Amino acid sequence: MLYYSTQDQSHIVTFKEATIRGQAPERGLYFPQTIPALPAAFFDGLKNNSKEEIALQVIQPFVGDTIQYAILKNIVEKTVDFDFPLVEVSDSMYALELFHGPTLAFKDVGARFMSQCLGYFMQHEHKKVTVLVATSGDTGGAVANGFYGVDGVDVVILYPSGKVSSIQELQLTTLGKNITALEIDGTFDDCQRMVKAAFTDEALSKALFLTSANSINVARWLPQQFYYFFAYRQWEHKNPPVISVPSGNFGNLCAGLMAYRLGLPVQHFIAACNANDAVPGYLQTGAYAAKPAVATLSNAMDVGDPSNFVRLLRLFDNNLLSIQNILTGFSISDETTKRTIQEVYKEENYLLDPHGAVSYKALQQYLQEHAGSEGIFLETAHPVKFYDVVETVIAGDVPIPKAVQALFSKTKNSITMQASSEDLKAFLMERAK
Ligand SMILES: *Cc1c(COP(=O)(O)O)cnc(C)c1O
Repeated sequence: MLYYSTQDQSHIVTFKEATIRGQAPERGLYFPQTIPALPAAFFDGLKNNSKEEIALQVIQPFVGDTIQYAILKNIVEKTVDFDFPLVEVSDSMYALELFHGPTLAFKDVGARFMSQCLGYFMQHEHKKVTVLVATSGDTGGAVANGFYGVDGVDVVILYPSGKVSSIQELQLTTLGKNITALEIDGTFDDCQRMVKAAFTDEALSKALFLTSANSINVARWLPQQFYYFFAYRQWEHKNPPVISVPSGNFGNLCAGLMAYRLGLPVQHFIAACNANDAVPGYLQTGAYAAKPAVATLSNAMDVGDPSNFVRLLRLFDNNLLSIQNILTGFSISDETTKRTIQEVYKEENYLLDPHGAVSYKALQQYLQEHAGSEGIFLETAHPVKFYDVVETVIAGDVPIPKAVQALFSKTKNSITMQASSEDLKAFLMERAK
């Protein structure tokens, strides 16, 4: 399979090139030239196949012959090496728990898949690649963990000092080896601005080979389809599920819609957003307006102008009606998010994190208007990652999983830096020597 750039249909690359480059020129995104429908036999056998077998069949056409089958099989097995349970929470509502990976956030799957693909591709290139990424919290930990110890790949992560949770900071700063954490005296927006400036700097791109690891990268975006097949594998109702996806940059939701285009039975999708409602606004009015991001409790979804919006349009040939047929948007306030965490904890004895609470509430509202339907909401982070919010809301403790407890005995190791693109450039230039 080949990929074209959303900025220039004649710019065509393989999966390998798309993975190494990350973004297409002029800020284009790579998109598959054709969407391969899965055979009916695949769906007949879905419930009897292992998650490894399913994942391999789903991703293989997207990778094509850029990775040998046996190697891809191995990559996929390592990528999905933990549980993705579907848990009944309340009447007709099920949580797909995506937080059982090493950093307790759903981004682990994409980061683990991408890091192994990039490591494989770089074996045959005689230069090192530097993955440069800005994080508001979850991306950094998943990327650090996924790339830890991968030969030929250096990782530099920028995070805003004092603005990520203590657990998130430990996940970024305690690994060492090929992972470097830059603690920036500024905001997440500053970090992103610095990273963008580095990517467009000519002297830097001559001196070293830079790439990104956010959901713009096809190798991080596409494996997220697995969740939706894993959910369906555990689905026991007759009617296909409504699926609610807590969304920020819209990589995850677009992966779900890709799974649907491959043939996965889904009744309807929900774009569950916090106050950052550019996409729900578009779904309602047909007019898209990017906005500055506003800070909310579900901070991994504080995105005012989602990168993957262009992919949403491509998935349905820019046809608003086709998109509206399968997708409804909701915007959930912080007040409602808190109330939802409280209610679901009290009434259903289930502890949501703020992102899961947004997707739960949006699903509940949709189901109220569509009696007789059943649905799945994605729970994208373990509540302990947001314990400062969650513990105040429920006025109780969040049990700390073993993997997190171990972090508290490790030593933070970061390099502090002013929020200056020049300083970042100087730092990267020094490493290129
Ligand atoms: C990144 C993230 C999201 C948003 O996912 P997108 O693919 O950017 O829409 C939701 N929840 C959590 C916990 C996240 O870390």
